[in-house]
Amino acid sequence: MTITPKVFPVLIANIKQSLDSQAESITALDEAIGDGDHLLNLQRGLQALEANSATISLLSWPEAWQKIGMLLMSSVGGASGSLYATLFLSLHKHSSDRCLDFPHFSQIFSLAIAAVKQRGKSDVGEKTLLDVLIPVAHCLQQSAEANQDLTLVLDNLCQVAATGAEATRDMLATKGRASFLGERSRGHIDAGAKTAELMISAVASVLKSEIAVGQIKP
Ligand code: ADP
Ligand code: MG
Repeated sequence: MTITPKVFPVLIANIKQSLDSQAESITALDEAIGDGDHLLNLQRGLQALEANSATISLLSWPEAWQKIGMLLMSSVGGASGSLYATLFLSLHKHSSDRCLDFPHFSQIFSLAIAAVKQRGKSDVGEKTLLDVLIPVAHCLQQSAEANQDLTLVLDNLCQVAATGAEATRDMLATKGRASFLGERSRGHIDAGAKTAELMISAVASVLKSEIAVGQIKP
C-alpha cells in the first residue's frame, strides 16, 4: 500500500501533540529573538487543518496539497504562514499525473523548497526554518537516488532536521524579525527551525509506525 492522504488526520494529530508538548520552550526561543507568536501562528494553522482533515483525507495528494496551502494562507499570520502555504501550493503546482513514488516526491519537495527560498528571499545559513528544510530536501533527494530503505530514510531525515535546527544557534540572523537584533541574535536556536524539526520528526514517527504495522510498504 502506498502513502495516501488517509494518513493526514493522524499526521496532524501527531504534529499538534509534538508542538504542544514543547510549547514553553518554543515560545521561549521565539521570545528571545522574535515576537513570541510563532507557536500560536502554527497552532492556528493546525486547527484549520484539523477541522478539514476528514475532507482532506479523501482527496488525492495534489488536491490535498492545494487545500492545505490555501487553508494555511488564510489562517496563519506571520512569515511562517506564507512560507508554509507556499510550500504546499508549490507541491500542488509541481505534482503531475505521475504516480507519487518516493523519487517523484523528493523531486517536487525540492522544487517546493526552492519556491519557499524565493518567497522568503532567503537561503541556508540565515537562521530560519530553511536551515532545516533545505538539508531535509537534499537528504530526501540523495536517499531517493540511492534507493534507500524508507525506514532508514525517515531516521536520517530526523537526524538531519535536528542538526539543522541546532546549527541555527550560533548563526547571525539575516532574515525575519531576528535580523533586527544583529549580533544579539546569536546564541539562540531559531524558533521556526525548531518547529520545522519537530514537525518533520512527528511526520516521520507516524510513517514509521504505519510501516511497522504493515499499513505502508517501505
Ligand atoms: P513573524 O516573524 O512574522 O512573527 P512567525 O513568528 O510565525 O512570523 O515565524 C517566524 C519564523 O519564520 C522565524 O523563526 C523563521 O524561521 C521564519 N522566517 C522569518 N522570516 C523568514 C524568511 N524571510 N525566510 C525564511 N524563513 C523566515
Ligand atoms: Mg513571530
